[in-house]
Amino acid sequence: MDKLISDIINGGQITKEGALRLFDFDIEDLLYAATKIRKKYKGGKVSICSIINAKSGQCGEDCKFCAQSAFNKTEVKVYPLAEPAKIARSADKALENAACFGIVSSGNYLNEKEIGSLCEMFKSYKNVEKLSVSIGRLSDGILLKLKEAGIKKIHHNLETSGGFFPKICSTHTYNERIDTIKRAKAAGFKICAGGLFGIGETLNDRIDLAFTLKELDVESVPMNFFIPVKGTELEKAKPLSAIEILKIIAIFRIILQKQDIVICGGREVNLRDLQPMIFAAGANAIMSGGYLTTGGRDTETDLKMIEDLGLEPLRGEV
Ligand code: SF4
Repeated sequence: MDKLISDIINGGQITKEGALRLFDFDIEDLLYAATKIRKKYKGGKVSICSIINAKSGQCGEDCKFCAQSAFNKTEVKVYPLAEPAKIARSADKALENAACFGIVSSGNYLNEKEIGSLCEMFKSYKNVEKLSVSIGRLSDGILLKLKEAGIKKIHHNLETSGGFFPKICSTHTYNERIDTIKRAKAAGFKICAGGLFGIGETLNDRIDLAFTLKELDVESVPMNFFIPVKGTELEKAKPLSAIEILKIIAIFRIILQKQDIVICGGREVNLRDLQPMIFAAGANAIMSGGYLTTGGRDTETDLKMIEDLGLEPLRGEV
């Protein structure tokens, strides 16, 4: 492990085969390696990101894990795109502590009227550079509108590996997701793209996802840990253990040295008292204040955790 750490700290890279073997290592060794790499590339700073579920439910895609898919019979709230003023108020509040505020909508696209109303708000929003947009598939025309409105960051998760994706979604393809990311990147946006773990994927799928994200050279990698939702096809899925989650985070840090690794949905429920260990596992960012369809811890508690660990929250910076 010492050789691997010094290779990576000196700019070396791990192979896919080597990364797969990391799952056999003890958690202590992985945490040790991931901490060293996180400190080298990210120092002691931690950024917080918050989101609003700006449009919820009735999504026409059939993602098996998702509470918002119309194919699943869940009790998720259903509402149309929130008023721009409401989104701006939520952003103002979140950005008092967060470095980034994500506007997320259900569905794989927004219509022209919806895009127009969001862009109007972005144009007049004072902290537009701290907003990120997660509104599904993006044509070049929509990307241009978002760019003209001042948006700098696009969020679009890959969810899992290309091999496993067809088993969790049949209404659109992995390549469509990759295509959106590539075009957004080519248009000059920073990219936030990650995945969801604990939905039946193999260790290989996890490693494939990490390498795909590395190849796409995304800026930040949100990592979500599945919480089974009643009424979805995966309602009986066994949640990942806390140690398994920490291992996945550490292995992602070893592969993705330069990316921001953001721990998102499922943190509180699946890690419980082990939440502070995400930073030892290499994370340098968290989502705080609740998720799309589930609640979360309040940001004050998360800030206290970060400060208690001797880390420095990046309040309101980008
Ligand atoms: S993950 Fe996104 S695209 Fe898939 S069903 Fe949920 S809201 Fe729709």
